[in-house]
Amino acid sequence: MNMEPIVKRFYTSLEEGKMMGRKCKRCGVVEFPPVIACNGCSCTDMEWVEISGKATMFDFVLPGVMSTRPDNEFLQPYCYGCVELEEGAKFNAIVCGVTKKTKKDIVPRLPVPIKARIVQKDGYKTVVFDLVKE
Ligand SMILES: [Zn+2]
Repeated sequence: MNMEPIVKRFYTSLEEGKMMGRKCKRCGVVEFPPVIACNGCSCTDMEWVEISGKATMFDFVLPGVMSTRPDNEFLQPYCYGCVELEEGAKFNAIVCGVTKKTKKDIVPRLPVPIKARIVQKDGYKTVVFDLVKE
């Protein structure tokens, strides 16, 4: 199996404003960002599903001086969050709106609701998350 068409479809969908994951036909696990084989059962029989973008942030770290990437500068302030989609996929992602100042308010409330957003980067689109105001 070749990962290239999967990656291509993922980015093409983002251009159309859709966030697509891959759902395993055998065990129902949804993988996002999409992968070739299911991490639940290693099955490669997967289908495309649009994800809602609703997610939860369980934990996060603020970027250190060394881990701040210039191409993410426009997203400031942000943190690196441990994220779980309502569809079940877990991964690390950029979550915007978290600062040193708001960190102490957010930590006692973890996990907190977040929502995915498509952003334009240099030549391609990608997915980041925003805190959902309660
Ligand atoms: Zn599976």
